[in-house]
Amino acid sequence: GVEIVLESVTKRYPNQKQPAVDNVNLTIPAGEIVVFVGPSGCGKTTTMRMINRLIEPSSGTITIGGKDALSIDPNELRRGIGYSIQQAGLFPHLTIAKNVATVPGLIGWDKQKIKARTDEMLDLVGLDPDMYRDRYPRQLSGGQQQRVGVARALAADPPVLLMDEPFGAVDPITRGLLQDELMRLQSELGKTIVFVTHDFNEAVKLGDRIAVLGNQSAIMQYDTPEAILAN
Ligand code: ADP
Ligand code: ADP
Repeated sequence: GVEIVLESVTKRYPNQKQPAVDNVNLTIPAGEIVVFVGPSGCGKTTTMRMINRLIEPSSGTITIGGKDALSIDPNELRRGIGYSIQQAGLFPHLTIAKNVATVPGLIGWDKQKIKARTDEMLDLVGLDPDMYRDRYPRQLSGGQQQRVGVARALAADPPVLLMDEPFGAVDPITRGLLQDELMRLQSELGKTIVFVTHDFNEAVKLGDRIAVLGNQSAIMQYDTPEAILAN
């Protein structure tokens, strides 16, 4: 598994008085699920985007699998980290299959393998591939689009998953199945998963550890669900 370490990480956006992320020190152990919970605006998404190198910290260091994130080739990072977000972020002009196949296509898998993997991933998120592969994102509900976003994040089998409220619009039954699936990916394949949610019950179910962020964009508590519930 891949360990992720944040050391004194701060992010300031231009024209913002308070830092969005303020001096965060955190070790996300290899092969664990770490869940970030906290109020809107406390820097959860910013932290995910820094790990994924969509933005750079203003100061501090992020290490992924022992390497400084800034030194990792962007293509290697794309292969190594699956990212799914609340808004799904699908390409509107691409079919569902093409959306799921984005990273496998970029890294040069052959057509047969991509087709098989795409269908497998759609099945995994509970979307019948025969019914959905040739549709476009706008033809799907918000929850279905999120599920395609999850399928896309998993498609290239990355060792790390960053999931920013990935199930917010997903119906409760499917959400439970997807939560179980994530826990299976962790226990059987040793994936390191960073998961953001507003839902404390979801955090307790999924998390090996929970990072509780406060309004000051700092980590208030970082511990097992049992220890946090005991406090
Ligand atoms: P994003 O992370 O994409 O910016 P937000 O953090 O703004 O999204 O929150 C998404 C939705 O969740 C918003 O409609 C917001 O009102 C709601 N929300 C934010 N914080 C909480 C919370 N602590 N508990 C429940 N719902 C929340
Ligand atoms: P969360 O995901 O916990 O809701 P965010 O990381 O989205 O929090 O935002 C943290 C803070 O940074 C908020 O005050 C937000 O308004 C601010 N922020 C986020 N993105 C930007 C941006 N691109 N430019 C300026 N400020 C931003």
